[in-house]
Formats: sequence, C-alpha cells, structure tokens
Amino acid sequence: MSKKKLGLNTICAHVGEIKDEQFKGAVSPIYLSSSYEFLDVDVKRYPRYFNTPNQEFLSKKIAALEHTDSAMIFGSGMAAISHLFLAFLKAGDHIVVQNTLYGGTSNFIREEFPKLNIEFTFTNGYDVKDFEAAIQPNTKLIHIETPSNPLLTITDIKAVAELAKSKQIVSSIDNTFASSVNQTPADFGIDIIMHSATKYFGGHSDICAGALAASSEHIERIWNVSKNLGGSLSDLTVWMLERSMKTLGLRVKTQTKGAKKMAKWLENHDAIKKVYYPGLKSHPQYALAKSQMKGFGAMLSFELKDAIDSVQFQKALKLIKPSMSLAGVESTMLNPAQTSHALLTQEQRDTLGISDGLIRFSVGIEEIKDLKADINQAIKVITNL
Ligand SMILES: *Cc1c(COP(=O)(O)O)cnc(C)c1O
Repeated sequence: MSKKKLGLNTICAHVGEIKDEQFKGAVSPIYLSSSYEFLDVDVKRYPRYFNTPNQEFLSKKIAALEHTDSAMIFGSGMAAISHLFLAFLKAGDHIVVQNTLYGGTSNFIREEFPKLNIEFTFTNGYDVKDFEAAIQPNTKLIHIETPSNPLLTITDIKAVAELAKSKQIVSSIDNTFASSVNQTPADFGIDIIMHSATKYFGGHSDICAGALAASSEHIERIWNVSKNLGGSLSDLTVWMLERSMKTLGLRVKTQTKGAKKMAKWLENHDAIKKVYYPGLKSHPQYALAKSQMKGFGAMLSFELKDAIDSVQFQKALKLIKPSMSLAGVESTMLNPAQTSHALLTQEQRDTLGISDGLIRFSVGIEEIKDLKADINQAIKVITNL
C-alpha cells in the first residue's frame, strides 16, 4: 500500500496536477462543468460522483500524502466522517470511539445513531485495553483521534490497528490535528484516514472541506454510499484546496517547529501553570508520540495561573486572534470551556480535565519572538489591572 516514492514537498507541489494540454499553463485548470459526455467514455463524470477532473486529481495528492491507494474529497470534515460511518455501519452494528472525540463527531454519534439503531461505546482509550474491553460481537468499526482535542492525549495507533485487524474490525482515524505532515497512520495499519481539510490542508482559514484516504476497496465502499448522500465539494473550492496544499509541508513544518518552541517557553513562564504538548518531555506520552509522529504538531494547550482570567488574557492579545477554528497560518487561541466544550456540564468538563482557565493554542507561521512578545504584553496588561 505504501507509496513513498516522492518526498513530502514534491508531493505537495506536484502530485495530482492536471496538465493544461490546450494552453500549457503552469497550474491545473478548473473544470466547472457539471455535465459531461456519456457516450464512448470510460468514466461517467458528475460532481456528486466525486469524479470531476479537479476532484479526481486532488484525491491523488491526498492519497500520496497518506500512503494509501485512493482518497475522496468532501464538502466538510463532518461530511467525510458521516459518510465514513454510514459506509461501514448499519442497523445492529456497533462502533467504539473515545471520550476525547471532536465535538461534532461526538454529537453526530449521540444524535443520529440512536435513530439508525447503530450502537456505540465511548471509552477513554488511553490504553489499548480500553478498546479491547469495549469490543462486542457486532463491533464493525473502531475510530480514534490522536492527538486529542484539546489536551493532546496520544492514542497508540499501531496497537489499535492491530487489535482491530485481529478481530476483523475496520479501523479509522481522525488525522486532522497532526496532519499528514506529522503522522501517516496507514503505515501503522489503520484502514481509513479522515481529515477536516478546513484545518491544515486548507491552512488559510478560508476553505471548508474534508477528505478520506484508504485502500481502493474501502474507498469504493465509501463511494457507493457517498453518491447517495451527496456531500461533494464545489470544484472552485477543490481548486483552492489544491493551491493551498502545495504549501502544506512548508506551513505545517514551520508551525510544528514554532509550537515546540512556544511549548518549551510557556512551560517555563511564571504566569503559566501547565502546558500540554506531546513534544515536551513532561508529556506523559512523549515516548509514544515520538514513536508514531514525525513531528509533534502545531497544536498545544496551556493553563494560566488562577489569578489570571483567561478571557481577559485573550482580549488583551494584539497579534494572536481569539478564534473558533484552528490550523491557519495565523496563530489563534480559544477557551474550550466556552467554545468546543461549552455544551458539557461543569462536571463532565472536570472529568475530561478541561478547566475554565485552559487555552488551546493553534500556532501559526509568525516569528516566535512576536508571539512571545504578544503573550507577555497581554499578561502584563491584565496583571496590572
Ligand atoms: C474541525 C474538525 C472536524 C470537523 O471538520 P469540519 O470541516 O468543520 O466539518 C473534525 N475533526 C477535527 C479534529 C476537527 O478539528
């Protein structure tokens, strides 16, 4: 399955280009046609069949990045995940997932699966034994997310993939947080890799898209459901995504390097209580992270000392934006307690370890000295209030 022939940035820049045969332009043309010839053609093309030229070719780039045979692009990360679940689960089946799952995925399972008679178990999943204990005779899918949001907990990808294989269960992963630059789960035996392309693939906070990468066999199974559900992405946006992904390697490597520096600096900062980043030796799963990640990613979380109000702190920032999403070239921060995890009770948040003072930090491409200066000036402003 492994397709490691080209290096990362070469894949980003070139794989999945559409040759402009007519005018010899340097970049892929955009094919906006929603209607294609049906006589004497090998492939009947239609946007909702996920096979317009731009969709088909960009999928090759994503497959190459994830070391899989095939890939598909969707209208959002949630479209990708819902199509994946509905392709592998039917009434009477069971799925094992983690408590730390992305909020939207968790809501989808809790709100939609009971209507479809699909059973589910949420487990902590800190240890592969947690998954093993949750497996039932009707379990058809194990879906993981690592590093987790927002505390950057690490799940053992290889152990989960092997457990799933030993029981003939399909395994899938939400690889959004690490991105293909820092983690390629197919190398550890995971069957299906999902991305919210709204995040690092897009990288400029101006695209909403999703992707799945897997073997051709699994992609065909997903496609058979997807053509009925219809969550395809417009070719204009597909083209924008292709352009964005040319710099995926450059962006994410820079952001990852920056995050590591910021994590180390924050860990020694007087105003900070705790830092969560898998690349810190103080992270309890540092060794596991190192064994399965090429880089530790550009997401981290930290807790301010109790005397410092986290909302006032974010209001005092001048460069870093308090913002809901993540993974853009611009640095952003948010309070999970007031955003992604606001619908949980205080008790549920306490169980997950999400305090009111916790801040999630998506590190952008800015110069580190400017990010440090912004954080310092914001702390100074509010501690002098
Ligand atoms: C944003 C996100 C999603 C959902 O993606 P959308 O593009 O918003 O639909 C899924 N998983 C993770 C980890 C995310 O960050």
